[in-house]
Amino acid sequence: MSEPGRRAVRETGPGARRERARAVSSEAIAPPRERSIDDEPSPPAAFATGSTQKRQALRGAELRSAPRPSLLAAPIETLKGAGPKLSAAAAEMGLENVGDVLTHVPHSYRDRAAPRKLADLRIGEEATVEVTVRSARVRPTRRRGLVIVEAQVADDSGPAKAVWFNQAWLVDRLREGTKLLLFGKLDRSGFRVEAHEVIGADGVQSAAGIHTTGIVPVHPASERLRAQRLREWAWQVRPLAPNAVEPLPAELRARRRLAVAGDALAAAQFPESLDEAEGARRRLAFEELFLHQVALAARRSQRRARRPGIPLEGPGALAGAWLESLPFELTGDQRRALEEIDGDLAADRPMQRLLMGEVGSGKTVLALYGMLRAVEAGYQAALMAPTETLAEQHAATLDRLLAGHQVPFTLLTSATPAARRREALSRLGSGELAMVVGTHALIEPDVEFGRLAVCVVDEQHRFGVRQRAALDEKGPGEAAPHALHMTATPIPRTLSLTAYGDLDATVLRELPAGREPVDTWVVGEEKRAGAYGFIRERLREGRQAYVVCPLVEGSQTLEAKAATEEAERLRATEFSDFDVGLLHGQMPPKEKQAAMERFAAGESDVLVATSVIEVGIDVANATVMLIEGAERYGLSQLHQLRGRVGRGGHRSQCILFADAASELARRRLEAIASERDGFKLAEVDLALRGEGEILGTRQHGLPRFRVAELPEDVAVLTEARGEVIALLERTGSFDAPELGPLLDAARARFGDEAIAP
Ligand code: ADP
Ligand code: MG
Repeated sequence: MSEPGRRAVRETGPGARRERARAVSSEAIAPPRERSIDDEPSPPAAFATGSTQKRQALRGAELRSAPRPSLLAAPIETLKGAGPKLSAAAAEMGLENVGDVLTHVPHSYRDRAAPRKLADLRIGEEATVEVTVRSARVRPTRRRGLVIVEAQVADDSGPAKAVWFNQAWLVDRLREGTKLLLFGKLDRSGFRVEAHEVIGADGVQSAAGIHTTGIVPVHPASERLRAQRLREWAWQVRPLAPNAVEPLPAELRARRRLAVAGDALAAAQFPESLDEAEGARRRLAFEELFLHQVALAARRSQRRARRPGIPLEGPGALAGAWLESLPFELTGDQRRALEEIDGDLAADRPMQRLLMGEVGSGKTVLALYGMLRAVEAGYQAALMAPTETLAEQHAATLDRLLAGHQVPFTLLTSATPAARRREALSRLGSGELAMVVGTHALIEPDVEFGRLAVCVVDEQHRFGVRQRAALDEKGPGEAAPHALHMTATPIPRTLSLTAYGDLDATVLRELPAGREPVDTWVVGEEKRAGAYGFIRERLREGRQAYVVCPLVEGSQTLEAKAATEEAERLRATEFSDFDVGLLHGQMPPKEKQAAMERFAAGESDVLVATSVIEVGIDVANATVMLIEGAERYGLSQLHQLRGRVGRGGHRSQCILFADAASELARRRLEAIASERDGFKLAEVDLALRGEGEILGTRQHGLPRFRVAELPEDVAVLTEARGEVIALLERTGSFDAPELGPLLDAARARFGDEAIAP
């Protein structure tokens, strides 16, 4: 079969910017072939564009040698223009060797046509021109800090003045006779240069027109390593592209007509057209998503194969009776989840289930049911939460929900005093304690369980893979405990296949009866006085309120400071008749605890807080929430914050102060005001801002893709997933030799953790 990635050689127009390898004439050296491309009914389609390739060009195509991946291992310093400083900047971006530069593909492209003639340009028009310098000078200006470089330039259609801002050093390079490619815009004062390159200065890069003509790639860059430099490096490594390792199985590539990796990379770096760029991007996105699905499938299958589970018969007397004793009926979603959990627990391999539902959707009730199922069968259960606060909350909930049922349990965190801890460890080891609730403290090496059969991990995305795996180690003998992972952060459906493709998932969409939607208003400063007045009325009626301060990304300290000041201000002014409490992440645990207890007990009326209240607070009497700087929060985060009110029988309100300066911000805030379904909001956020932008993407535990974009590439994802499933059906297991290279590739791409069971 012909090389699907071989592009028809096309002469470029003016500038002839690519030194294309002219094909060695195969007619001269190749022996006569029995069949040639001339015999095929129709010549194969070109890469990406699908246009028919010229037979002439195909016959003249260059012969390839076998790839030599070792060439890509050369350090960045071997590139022209890569000194120690820039190499360090590159390393910061994860670019260590030339192969990394090759796979660091552009995030966008600028479409710059071939050079035009100066005389043909109209005012306001953007274009590339090819000119010769006649003279250049730095023009003094009155404005401080402003430097203008002016050059008289000309092409054969006539002269013009070229203007650069703030690049005084340039003037020395603009000697008379220097040939330049300029991209910019003609205005009344001359040709304003946005990008330029000197032709013929240092051979390789500068003459190529890579910055100014044709499709110009734009790479993800940094302060210290600019896009222009990355483009020059990419141009240097492009000839090495054929050495890229091809991770996709040949059969798959042939069937799907996918180009080889090297061609796709070369085309993504310096495409001939925007169509070709998109074709290359999709090809690389497919590879990326395919490998990610391989990683997920590998992890899942290893988990299953590695350790036996602990089949639990039942349900027995305890769990069932406990359910009966609850003062409410389970929702339909809860009942379905319950059946799934029962099914998992009965199996002889460990449960690996993700339970996803908004705050208040009733996850804890299900978790506790699962834990009781272990206890009634004579085993132990553990609940692990990411913070002390949450662990304490869970302990309190368990206390309340288990009232009257004789189930001994304890709380174990890093704050547990040594003597208590020692006692707890001994009672866990002997199996005397049926349940434990705690933080990371639960997975410390010296914590041993006698008979751990069920563990629940709350806010599972806040734990690393290794931490979750450490819990698996705590099972009796060879067996791994059943694991129920919970998250209140709705993951958009379109991302679910990448986010938790390795878990069985259950979603609770239905909120328990009696929960009223929270009235949500997005307002500007003019409503501030009215908002405080409204809150005071609610406070006089006996309700309580939250005031949430703006998110300061990356600085808990600044956030804490702002909250402290706001609490002071409100105490002195708007809420001077009320008790105003304060809660932020920088407070010592004891003070935090005290602040929450005071609010929960109704001793404080208003709680001024940072986003720390997002998890863990449950005060039914709090019915109003005021959020400052709402535009800074992600939609899911706002929704979770809002979920802190509307938990009792009272109608609740959420007032969002927002500076909706941008159209995007306005649309997001409209969505939060009108939409009550957390999953829909997550979808909206994703659609509006893109996966990479979603605040707290990392919190979802989502992988970062280099090329693939979701939700746009969801179709590609579905196809990739289908291929992985089919592949596994064919090979039967991950031990099949043909899967070895795929696992290596997935590991290389996503790290060992991605595949660790
Ligand atoms: P989550 O853990 O998902 O935030 P919880 O399990 O803590 O939710 O439930 C929130 C509150 O709703 C708790 O007070 C719980 O007792 C109550 N609850 C749970 N399920 C129901 C139900 N089906 N009907 C009424 N109330 C419920
Ligand atoms: Mg909960």
